[in-house]
Amino acid sequence: MTLYEPVIGLEVHAEMLTRSKMFCSCAVVDNTEAPPNTATCPVCLGMPGVLPTLNAEAVEMGLRVGLALGCTIPPFNQFARKNYFYPDLPRGYQISQYEYPLAINGFLDIDLPDGGTRRIRVRRAHLEEDTGKLTHTGDGASLVDLNRAGVPLLEIVSEPDLRSAEEAEAYARQLRSILQYLGVNHGDMSRGVLRFEANVSVRPAGSDELRTRTEIKNLNSIRGMVRAIQKEVERQIHLWESGQGVRQATLGWDDDRGQLIIQRTKESASDYRYFPEPDLPLLQISPEHVAEVRQGLPELPAARRDRFCRDLGLNRADAAILTAEQAVADYYEAALAAGGAPQPVANFLIGEIFRLMNADALGRDAIGTIKVTPEALAELLRLAQEGAINLNTAKRVLDILYAEGGDPARIVAERGLAQVTDEDAIRAAVDSVLAENPAEVEAYLAGSEKVAKFLMGQVMRALRGKGQPQAVQEALDEALAARRS
Ligand SMILES: [Zn+2]
Repeated sequence: MTLYEPVIGLEVHAEMLTRSKMFCSCAVVDNTEAPPNTATCPVCLGMPGVLPTLNAEAVEMGLRVGLALGCTIPPFNQFARKNYFYPDLPRGYQISQYEYPLAINGFLDIDLPDGGTRRIRVRRAHLEEDTGKLTHTGDGASLVDLNRAGVPLLEIVSEPDLRSAEEAEAYARQLRSILQYLGVNHGDMSRGVLRFEANVSVRPAGSDELRTRTEIKNLNSIRGMVRAIQKEVERQIHLWESGQGVRQATLGWDDDRGQLIIQRTKESASDYRYFPEPDLPLLQISPEHVAEVRQGLPELPAARRDRFCRDLGLNRADAAILTAEQAVADYYEAALAAGGAPQPVANFLIGEIFRLMNADALGRDAIGTIKVTPEALAELLRLAQEGAINLNTAKRVLDILYAEGGDPARIVAERGLAQVTDEDAIRAAVDSVLAENPAEVEAYLAGSEKVAKFLMGQVMRALRGKGQPQAVQEALDEALAARRS
């Protein structure tokens, strides 16, 4: 049986976080909140005789993305009309870029599951406008909301360099992270601000041929995209294996049913009859302006991850987790600024706080909204570090902080959670546990190491979990040794 290798390219459509639309001064509104068709004007409604004007902020944001992806910025840009009819496109054409896009020939280095990295080439990034939104009512009617029509979109197109659904996921997640760091997209896919299209083909592993590909449109979540690609790879392998071969097609994805839907055989660029947009002049971008935008780029996720490794001594996996979401990295650094030590803060954040947030179905980018402030986390870990509380108590206090907020030292004092280091109290607990468990003591003295752990647990229990573990262990060892002689 032939082994197959997937060949995958991704197109990412990212709404730019501008204040106004791409070619008019209508506000960009949240589609889930604003009443339909309230953020519209004659330009984005496609009335006859209107003229588009270019949104400089959108160009600026597109340039930031292009430069962050290592792209070349050509000196001339041209907008083009992409002609097709659809009810969510009132003009009958979309203003996009075709032959002369904003940015070309970039790359994104993705982290692979095995710890390595691979360079994925970015073919181009171009600006265009979004379409409106259709809602099909189910009784044969469709509702049109044009609030989204004309919202700036950046389409980022990769070369077909991805070799698995997992690599596509890594690319999508890292690209999303970069867009968030650049402040051009807030990454909330439930609001449709980031959408994917995947082109997929398969070929015998090791070959370099490019076989017929299909395109999966309108993927609205990374998880859905991964599932759709996996399904499509399986489908194509089956088609080749059974001798039918793959036909070029556009597919849709029904995320609820987990099904691919064949929509139509694919149109080619010539079907769109692209031609230069006559109502917009050529966009010229000077090298000086490019240099200025480059200068203003923030520290990006990969650089921040490397800095966390280098300066804070974190391992790469922890550093990657902490920098994937800008909000998490900011929270982490705020806890360090409040006096937290790098590794304990990382451990508690990744191990404990993420666990609590998962249980509440909170995404990690919501970390700024939880009741545990970075300062409280640092303070909690300082109490543990200084021995005022043990690690178990620290986790208990964290649960309280997470549920109620507040000050760790006060919670420890008010609830009597301070660690018991008093030798007399510990010795008394040890003596009473040994007196209550004569059989176990007997077994220990006969050489059973297993019961030592049990006795330790009993003493900690007697101290209501607050014993300083090392002092308890020492007192227990001492008492047992005394019984042995
Ligand atoms: Zn408008």
